[in-house]
Amino acid sequence: MMREPRESRSEERVNLLDMLPAEAEATLRAFATANGERPFRAAQVVQHLWSSPRASLDDMTGLPSAFRERLAEVFEIPRLALSTRQRSVDGTEKFLFRLADGEHIETVAIPDGSRLTLCISSQAGCALQCSFCATGAMGFARNLRLFEIAGQVRETILLTGQKPTNIVFMGMGEPLMNWKAVDPTLTILNDPSGFGIGSR
Ligand code: SF4
Repeated sequence: MMREPRESRSEERVNLLDMLPAEAEATLRAFATANGERPFRAAQVVQHLWSSPRASLDDMTGLPSAFRERLAEVFEIPRLALSTRQRSVDGTEKFLFRLADGEHIETVAIPDGSRLTLCISSQAGCALQCSFCATGAMGFARNLRLFEIAGQVRETILLTGQKPTNIVFMGMGEPLMNWKAVDPTLTILNDPSGFGIGSR
């Protein structure tokens, strides 16, 4: 279902990263047409959400500047704030992201030749309390939203310039306990208009 963009205060802008690629493109196509811009601009924006991400709408410099300004009045593409970045001698990098409500989540990028495996989180904390696990000892804070899970892949590309080849849900949380957000995340990961990372 296409979401109606709301034109109101900045904190109520529509989060494009909380949509599936097809939904975002349909919403943007309607927005472009309503604002006198050509419909193909929608696909250009979608390309810069996931597959070739830009840090902000204003950074999508292939779009006319007036259209970028109009987009930013109605839509948002929130970043995950980088709190800590650590790199080990073997090239593995650990990112700690701070979410808007102050919760923190971990993402780990593990290089192996031409492959880059990204270990992402699906929950802040975890309720399952496996005895060997530090996250389990923290307890459960909340489920992550779609844009916070897929956003870890987006942030990694923005921060490292490298696109992951493999994704594993072995960060914080049990993904099956947050299936409502993990299911659409898998669509974004696989969709050629999303990250285009093939399933196997
Ligand atoms: S994060 Fe994974 S290993 Fe840790 S407590 Fe939760 S389910 Fe168990």
